[in-house]
Amino acid sequence: MNGRPFTRQFPSVETVPAIAADALVDDTGKPSRRRPPSALFVDQSGQPGGAELCLLPLAALHAAHSEVLLLSDGPFRELLEAQGVRVIVKSNAQVSAIKRAGMRLSWLRALPGMYRQILAIATRARYFDVLFLNTQKALVLGALGKPLHRSPIVWHAHDVMTRDHFGKMQLRIVRWLVRHAIDQVVANSQATADALIELTGLPASAIPVVHNGIDVDAFMHADPVEAQSLRRRFNLPENAWLAGLFGRLAPWKGQHVAIESLTRLQDVHLALVGGALFGEDDYVKELHCLAARLGVADRVHFVGTRNDVPVLMKAMDVILHTSLKPEPFGRVIIEGMAAGRPVVASGAGGVTEIVQHRMNGWLIEPGNVAALADAIETLRATPNLVQCMTDRAVHDVQQHFALDAYLQQVTHIIARARR
Ligand code: UDP
Repeated sequence: MNGRPFTRQFPSVETVPAIAADALVDDTGKPSRRRPPSALFVDQSGQPGGAELCLLPLAALHAAHSEVLLLSDGPFRELLEAQGVRVIVKSNAQVSAIKRAGMRLSWLRALPGMYRQILAIATRARYFDVLFLNTQKALVLGALGKPLHRSPIVWHAHDVMTRDHFGKMQLRIVRWLVRHAIDQVVANSQATADALIELTGLPASAIPVVHNGIDVDAFMHADPVEAQSLRRRFNLPENAWLAGLFGRLAPWKGQHVAIESLTRLQDVHLALVGGALFGEDDYVKELHCLAARLGVADRVHFVGTRNDVPVLMKAMDVILHTSLKPEPFGRVIIEGMAAGRPVVASGAGGVTEIVQHRMNGWLIEPGNVAALADAIETLRATPNLVQCMTDRAVHDVQQHFALDAYLQQVTHIIARARR
């Protein structure tokens, strides 16, 4: 990882609210007298994507009596450990190689590794009140081992479980597991919940929605002077109008759409912040070729994966979100809003629960290059509109996407799942 320690972006263990003081309430909303629940959190990734950054402060809050089991090693482990979280890694190359689609053959090859990981999770889970599964593979492996550990299972769903994102086989497996092995699902957006209700037939009341929460202050108060020096450090033009697209480089995240929009915009530069976290190296090559072919390569800046997103967001004039498929939630959107920058986002999935068009951000049709360019041009030409939108955006993020509220709600769900 580049840059300063990742931990700056997140509350340190000392600033995470005390769990016994306000995170635990009983079903009547009164403070609970029971001890905080202990949890084994399981996540498949060693890379810090949105689901992992969502788990990080939760695991830090529960660090005293919980543990994280990772199914791959990587920088996410370092982030957890820097927050005082106990981490164990049980990785297996064949299981990690299983992709979302076309997975039949790779599943077969991975069977022995899966068996070992199921055993590892089940063995650790016996020491905790609740098994908390944070990703798809964690769901499958943790749930299949239920006869061995018998712990109550909470699944934090961070994906829209439809054919847009997953293969038929995987959807069938998830449907079966959710119906037969999972005690409580929590969804990161209504879009995620709706897809699960459709898939599993569960009633809406069985799938509470808890939106992501972020450390709003870290984004609001990121130093703009530092933002200018960052522009210099990355050779980002100091006075040019700069659009920032944050997130891993992957075809469905639509970085190519943002590059294409530059052909319709004069003097606008684009910073792509993020790397190919899950092996999308061919896509990165395609992006470079596309920028060269369209004659905009000198205005596209590949910044790479960064640990200091708040200050980099402050360095931008506009934040773009260009996902082509419905985004389950979209942390980068609330981060851009908290940083006080106008956000243009693809209007599908969980995004529509965050952005109200022209009120606190700007929605476009996913994949529509002309609409993206128009939005950027309009925002560039109307600073008054930008001021109104960003004032409202900061207010909305403080009201609806604060870290404390997210931590309290998920902790309550974990506590309720404990037997
Ligand atoms: N991010 C980061 N460094 C980067 C690019 C992205 O820390 O270089 C973070 C970003 O700030 C956000 C997360 O990665 O918190 C991406 O979450 P999002 O929900 O937008 O997308 P996901 O990864 O879940 O698809």
